[in-house]
Amino acid sequence: MQTMPNFLMKRAFLTPERIAVYFRDQAITFEELYILSVTTAGQLQKLGVKKDQFIAVLLKNHLDTVVILFALQLLGVKTVILNNRLTPAELAWQLKDSKVSALILDDVFSHLEQMLSQELSSLHTFTKTNLFSQESISTELQEEISLDEICTIMYTSGTTGNPKGVMQTYGNHWWSATGSALNLGVTDQDCWLCTVPLFHISGFSILMRSVIYGMPLVLHEKFDQERTIQDIKEKKVTIMSVVGTMLTRIVESLKGGQLPQQFRCMLLGGGPAPLPLLKACVEKQIPVFQTYGMTETSSQIVTLSPEYSLSKLGSAGKPLFPSEIRIERTEGSKAQPGEAGEIIVKGPNVTRGYLYRPDATEDKIRNGWLYTGDIGYLDEDGFLYVLDRRSDLIISGGENIYPAEIEAVLLAHPEIQEAGVTGLNDPRWGQVPVAFIVTKNGEELSSDELKQFCREQLAKYKVPKDFYFTDQLPRNAAKKLLRRTLKEWLDEGRFK
Ligand code: ATP
Ligand code: MG
Repeated sequence: MQTMPNFLMKRAFLTPERIAVYFRDQAITFEELYILSVTTAGQLQKLGVKKDQFIAVLLKNHLDTVVILFALQLLGVKTVILNNRLTPAELAWQLKDSKVSALILDDVFSHLEQMLSQELSSLHTFTKTNLFSQESISTELQEEISLDEICTIMYTSGTTGNPKGVMQTYGNHWWSATGSALNLGVTDQDCWLCTVPLFHISGFSILMRSVIYGMPLVLHEKFDQERTIQDIKEKKVTIMSVVGTMLTRIVESLKGGQLPQQFRCMLLGGGPAPLPLLKACVEKQIPVFQTYGMTETSSQIVTLSPEYSLSKLGSAGKPLFPSEIRIERTEGSKAQPGEAGEIIVKGPNVTRGYLYRPDATEDKIRNGWLYTGDIGYLDEDGFLYVLDRRSDLIISGGENIYPAEIEAVLLAHPEIQEAGVTGLNDPRWGQVPVAFIVTKNGEELSSDELKQFCREQLAKYKVPKDFYFTDQLPRNAAKKLLRRTLKEWLDEGRFK
């Protein structure tokens, strides 16, 4: 079994005086972070938390959260990190599913304590204030970790079905951080802005990179485009992780302005990136690096290197050094360049499976490859283009239609705020695409005009047959579009 020193302990020993985290007007060094985490480890121990337990956290982006997460690692606890936007019923489900011994929650969630304790009789809950008011008793810290050991459990977003608890080991996080560094490089000037939630792998992986690289992290409670631009300038941020909607708002806020010279990477992931957005970023000289990854790959697994950001615009790039990807036409049969198929991935950053779900694990991980359920193709040079999720594919008259492609076209329409596309059963074609639209000013647009707009950019069979206007699209706690709910809306006959 391969071991390594506890990441934070090692970092605090190597470069104690470097800044670890900027939060609001505070800046703390790795040594200070370590001392705080050791104190909190002692407080957790006082509350009965022990090595190898599964402990859940429901915490907001905050310096205290960073401290608690590292304290749990110092104790050798496996941390189940819960999404703050889950409904009480979803929270109870994930807590039951992961069989945790205790839940640590932010004080703003204390109203949930009673309900959760009723639902789960053996669950201990304690708020952050309660935790921090404990006496810190002396603890045996886990100076070494095994790379195979579970560090975190994170649930998938539940876009295609019920969320599944992904086991992320220390080795997964280590290789994820290493793979990213080998692609983006690391300099002593680097500083990563985290405005994405720490409860997602996009945010948590920044925390791990911070200790592994010895790099400061600027932590925001939530995304705000003005504060983002301000902090990129003031804190001399060089890298930031974003999803498409965040980047759109940054671009809008920048107006004629530009980001400062030192800013070298806007890591864009989480979902499909609309080409018009990528083009707008090229114009504004925002260095966008498209990336593809998932909870199961402990963040990025494929990222577009800087030198290809223009020539391969729209591609998610090549697999990071430690990882491999393949496109399968059918199981065991490799697709040709340009041919679409399921994306399968492999590497030391890829999970070994889902918590207490041997069936789901067996279904998704076969011969060492994780079947992602996403469809994409590799071009002649081995660059990945992600098309869509297999479960959302629309087959119309024998042609494959990817909703994401149509949504991207619609999103480029000046009056459209959000778009979601799904398949409607059709006696002649099997299925035809239909679009759900949220307009910027809340007023309906002419279907004929929209069809014409789509026809200019899409083959005829891809042009939505109907357009339905709504004030909101169904999204999950990760804010991802739920196309399966759009289907339900159609089945229920809500839109005609
Ligand atoms: P569930 O697995 O429960 O359905 P989920 O897949 O949405 O939820 P995540 O792990 O948060 O949960 O998201 C990973 C998914 O996001 C990928 O499998 C892919 O479908 C999508 N995605 C990530 N990056 C990209 C990208 N660059 N282009 C297109 N899709 C992407
Ligand atoms: Mg998934």
